[in-house]
Amino acid sequence: MFAKILIANRGEIAIRIIRACRDLGIATVAVYSQADKTSMHVSMADQAICIGSAPASQSYLNISNIIAAAKNTGADAIHPGYGFLAENAYFAELCETNDIKFIGPKSNVIELMGDKVKARELVSSEGVPLVPGSAGAVESFARAAQIADAIGYPVMIKASAGGGGKGMRLAHSRNALEEALNMAKMEAKGAFGNDEVYIEKYIEEPRHIEFQILGDEFGNMIHLGERDCSLQRRNQKLLEEAPSCMLDAELREKMGATAVTAARAANYTSAGTIEFLVDRDKNYYFIEMNTRIQVEHPVTEMVTGIDIVKEQIRIAAGEKLSIAQSDVNVNGWAIECRINAEDPDRNFMPSPGQITEYWCPGGPGVRVDSSAYSGYTISPYYDSMIAKLIVWGRTRAEAIERMRRALLEFQVGNVQTTIPFHLQVLDNAFFQKGEVYTNFIQRRMGG
Ligand code: ADP
Repeated sequence: MFAKILIANRGEIAIRIIRACRDLGIATVAVYSQADKTSMHVSMADQAICIGSAPASQSYLNISNIIAAAKNTGADAIHPGYGFLAENAYFAELCETNDIKFIGPKSNVIELMGDKVKARELVSSEGVPLVPGSAGAVESFARAAQIADAIGYPVMIKASAGGGGKGMRLAHSRNALEEALNMAKMEAKGAFGNDEVYIEKYIEEPRHIEFQILGDEFGNMIHLGERDCSLQRRNQKLLEEAPSCMLDAELREKMGATAVTAARAANYTSAGTIEFLVDRDKNYYFIEMNTRIQVEHPVTEMVTGIDIVKEQIRIAAGEKLSIAQSDVNVNGWAIECRINAEDPDRNFMPSPGQITEYWCPGGPGVRVDSSAYSGYTISPYYDSMIAKLIVWGRTRAEAIERMRRALLEFQVGNVQTTIPFHLQVLDNAFFQKGEVYTNFIQRRMGG
């Protein structure tokens, strides 16, 4: 096992990783930007090193400073968390060449699965169903129009290097296709430095259902069941739950086996996620693999009792998976609400500033993953998530009740948050019946 892990991240996920390290008896090194001097992850870690100024490009994305910090502190592994460098193949490779274990899959696997066109090709060669679309990248409008005519409108243009919903455009007709193609390319170039795009059929009112995967370096690969992340705003997840109301035991088993096949195709090691869209007729289609720990991993932890971050660290240390597929049992229901410093009444505009009072909910079945405290200032430099509020109940109805109670207990002074919005979602009759899909907020909540 590792003696010391450097955490190349900030906020709640840095704290989440420190907690897993503590449970495993591993020392921790936090890195921080000048804007994060008084952050909780800095005081919680055994050691802390400043790696640059506030902009992420100068600090949390500053590869050479992070590697130097690991070397100087004698860390034998780096955990990248999510975001920042978590899916940067070059960073993972540099860790490898510096004899620092990157806690994640091999760099070539990050590169392969980060290229959505290549990932689609790879998993489809193993029989994993894809959203109907282009076989590879699409260069010209003429080719795009040909493919769209063949699969039928509406279609989605998506960036090959895409992430965070960027570089994605919907086209309802041939007339709109050219502009959608150009806009997607431009946005992809700006965000990822790569304007390669592909086309998928637009699935109407789909569910976003993903499977948590764990694979070790001995070829053992299991899944921990699904998460339903259909509640999204502008293709960004807001509320996630496990399990999904949509799956029965048979479909769950079939999709789980498909997810394992997809991860095996990539020789995947570490914790990862296979994402699917499911249409109204319960056909499912692979959309992408995320090669990192995800924001929403706690809902899976709550229903399986498995500490995914601990497993991820053990796998990186060369240990065998401590559980087999038959050991995985899903018990009860878990829901996560992302509490962001955003104003739902003003189009979810970020609301940075100092949190004057911070009262966290508690009680049976409640978990809060957060780096906030009374007096903490939310920096405009980073994302606006204040906390992840996760609840567990024996049934979905009990989980919803507990979430409502916990949201009402949660007090965050002086900044606007998404708490009132989540309360509205919980009160929505369609949500309560489990009738959710990715455009739910747009259609049912006018957002
Ligand atoms: P990103 O990597 O940018 O997050 P994804 O491929 O994971 O992109 O898609 C994010 C979300 O966009 C999905 O959860 C879904 O809501 C929507 N989406 C993506 N592809 C399609 C599609 N073909 N049809 C309908 N919605 C889609």
